[in-house]
Amino acid sequence: MSAPPEKRRISIMRKFLSLLLALVMVLCCIPAVAETADGVYEGTGAGLNGQIKVSVTVSGGKITEVKVLEHSETAGISDPAIEKIPAAIVEAQSADVDIVSGATFTSKGIIEAVKNALNPDEAKEATMPFEQPDILVIGAGMAGLATAARAAELGLNVLVVDQAATYGGSANVAGGTLLGTCTRMQKEAGIEDDPDLCFADFVRLGGAGNFNEEIAREFAEISGEAVDWLDDLGTDFGDRVPYFGVYQPLNVARNYSGKGGARAFVVSLYAELEKYFSTNAYMMLNTYVTGLVTNDEGAVIGAKARLADGTETTLLAPATVICTGGYAGNEELLNKYNFENVLSTSPACVTGDGYAWLEELGAPLTNMDFCTAYAGGIPTSDDFRFFGYFNATNGALWINTNGERMADETGADSHVKSETWANAPHNIVYTVFSSEMLIPDAKVFSTGAWGSVKEEFDPYVESLIEKGLAWKADTIEELAEKVDLPVDAFKATIAAYNDGCANGNDPFGRTKQEVAMANGPFYAVKTVPYVMITCGGPMMTKNCEVLNSDGLVIEGVYMAGEIVGMANVGGRNSIGGMGHGNCLVWGKKAAEVIAAKLGK
Ligand SMILES: Cc1cc2nc3c(=O)[nH]c(=O)nc-3n(C[C@H](O)[C@H](O)[C@H](O)COP(=O)(O)OP(=O)(O)OC[C@H]3O[C@@H](n4cnc5c(N)ncnc54)[C@H](O)[C@@H]3O)c2cc1C
Repeated sequence: MSAPPEKRRISIMRKFLSLLLALVMVLCCIPAVAETADGVYEGTGAGLNGQIKVSVTVSGGKITEVKVLEHSETAGISDPAIEKIPAAIVEAQSADVDIVSGATFTSKGIIEAVKNALNPDEAKEATMPFEQPDILVIGAGMAGLATAARAAELGLNVLVVDQAATYGGSANVAGGTLLGTCTRMQKEAGIEDDPDLCFADFVRLGGAGNFNEEIAREFAEISGEAVDWLDDLGTDFGDRVPYFGVYQPLNVARNYSGKGGARAFVVSLYAELEKYFSTNAYMMLNTYVTGLVTNDEGAVIGAKARLADGTETTLLAPATVICTGGYAGNEELLNKYNFENVLSTSPACVTGDGYAWLEELGAPLTNMDFCTAYAGGIPTSDDFRFFGYFNATNGALWINTNGERMADETGADSHVKSETWANAPHNIVYTVFSSEMLIPDAKVFSTGAWGSVKEEFDPYVESLIEKGLAWKADTIEELAEKVDLPVDAFKATIAAYNDGCANGNDPFGRTKQEVAMANGPFYAVKTVPYVMITCGGPMMTKNCEVLNSDGLVIEGVYMAGEIVGMANVGGRNSIGGMGHGNCLVWGKKAAEVIAAKLGK
């Protein structure tokens, strides 16, 4: 007689554990290169976006060449590490070289790959320090790390898995704002706050009725202690001075910044989790979860996963927490839910798999049609994650495909910019200008993460013209024809704008940098929205439990992080620090709820 399904799964789990016992991790020391036979050795290491493969040439007892053979690191950001680390290793005749600042993960990945290439035999066993996890955390971004670290602190056996080669997810590249009410940092600065004021901000900025009041109130209530916990873990909050945020200002200064960005949060959460690796925590990277596993009653009892070596397995746990993030790295889902044309700053691993799993279990998704758009992405490559930036508020007009303006360009705040790019037909906005219309010394084009690197105007615009993304003309009519805008409508738009400049009656109320579009050459640049966070998600209770379409809790499954949906918590607007707030607050809360349920 075959064992009941539950027992069979446990037995599969045991086999899986034995398999884990056999998994090897290469030690981080290189044997003396002098003892290594001449030859070309290959090895891999974990970079930011995946495995980095290198070759190391040894000749006459010396490392003569290190080459990066394959990688999927972010162009631009990783380039300095790819260029400098191999040369530094040859120079030092050792892999113990300094990392290149700004490209930490790529540097570490290359170093690890070189060590692995030269040291394939010296290995040690890495084992899971328990038989059965109490909690399976899917995703090791900020939400997964917060959930896992808090669960480990509470004595739960924690298994955290991630498809990526490294932990941290979006927070590895994110700006470091964080939202929290009634925190220690506010008290230090003499700022009085109140959960009711935070809730009032959600109503004011996000719109009452757009969000789930239960979780909005809970967030307002418990976010302060979550931020204090992160503070207790030694997070570097720089000057620790709370501020009003980078979007529409909050009603009380309740934003904080991790020094150097959200990596500061990742570093301290991982350090906390790491303390428990020898007792009750285990992390498996390069582990792709393919779906959830349920029992006959429909409760979630774990997940199916594909390990790094391709082995399919089942991971069972009494509680599974979905921390798979949003879907901003998945162009197909962004097209489906939000934008016809879109670019993204999110890592490729932000695939949005968790939504489909929970939908399959009967969880309705809400606010999926809302997504914060950022203005001025220029689609300069075939990959929607590598693109250029136009500084939208530098004086240029914003023209849609009908040849019309849409807003007061120089007076627009973050919300107006977002709505303009989100609502433009086909999500295409042409930025139109002559040199004299631009605010003197304003950045026009930039590139790199967050448009941080200013581009020289002439060569950059020429490169865009070659790619069919910018146009230059001597007359308004010629520009309209080149861009393929309706000529009469465009001419009427410019005439109305010029009239506004002369008479102070701009149709959109523009008052800043009102300079007529009178003297050519005239330029138009094609831009589309870009995203860095998605905002919808399944409905959940204030205990991080997922609800089905009847409003009933789906047993065994919880969620935290971006998948909760910024709009479900704070409404349909950008609320500074809410992205990381949803990771920290709900990750900590999910762990505490599960620990209480399991009697820990
Ligand atoms: C450029 C940028 C700037 C930002 N700036 C800010 C800011 O200043 N303030 C703010 O509040 N927010 C900001 N955000 C948003 C914020 O960083 C994210 O919302 C947050 O980090 C999401 O964390 P998460 O853990 O929920 O998800 P993620 O970080 O997306 O992590 C999810 C993890 O799940 C893994 N995963 C997904 N599917 C699977 C699967 N099938 N199997 C196994 N693993 C899987 C992924 O590999 C990933 O590591 C920014 C985002 C970006 C991209």
